[in-house]
Amino acid sequence: MDQRDMGADLESVLVSEEQIRTRLGELAAQIDADYAGRDLLLVGVLKGAVMVMADLARALHAPAEMDWMAVSSYGSGTKSSGVVRILKDLDKDIGGRHVLVVEDIIDSGLTLSWLLANLGSRGPASLEVATLLRKPEAAKVEIDVRYVGFEIPNEFVVGYGLDYAERYRNLPFVGTLAPHVYSS
Ligand code: 5GP
Ligand code: MG
Ligand code: MG
Repeated sequence: MDQRDMGADLESVLVSEEQIRTRLGELAAQIDADYAGRDLLLVGVLKGAVMVMADLARALHAPAEMDWMAVSSYGSGTKSSGVVRILKDLDKDIGGRHVLVVEDIIDSGLTLSWLLANLGSRGPASLEVATLLRKPEAAKVEIDVRYVGFEIPNEFVVGYGLDYAERYRNLPFVGTLAPHVYSS
């Protein structure tokens, strides 16, 4: 399947490649300023955050280490439950480190609250979050997300790391799927 074929599955482009590039550049400039003189550890959450991590990290001027976690949030279909299991933990200890969690999207915020509690208990010097996308539901949970790319409506989106049944992650933009994709 190539990108042209995936095009038939899409309903609309919500955030374009160019909008993503511009916004990540702005966030990187803020992060560079905020972390000046401190060594930064970026923690990407697999698999969704792969694209954001790759592009945000390259837009930074400051040196930054990267590490990865993979978690699975139990839940049916497109809703998460907040019950989280670690599939892959960080390679290194984060005690005393300035940690910036890099996320693709915050929907209910349940996965992220669990992750922040987990990482917070490991004694980092600081712990902040950068996410490309945030949905309105996230407002219901008390998480302080310092860097947000785009606030998006409450719709299921794919692309730029985000999947539907593991597909569409390699689209270079964020879009919504046509109804026939869900019903087939
Ligand atoms: P939360 O725990 O905040 O509800 O959801 C977090 C995870 O659910 C995200 O990291 C992502 O994997 C998945 N998710 C939430 N909303 C969407 C969406 O609109 N599209 C896709 N593809 N995944 C989503
Ligand atoms: Mg994620
Ligand atoms: Mg997924």
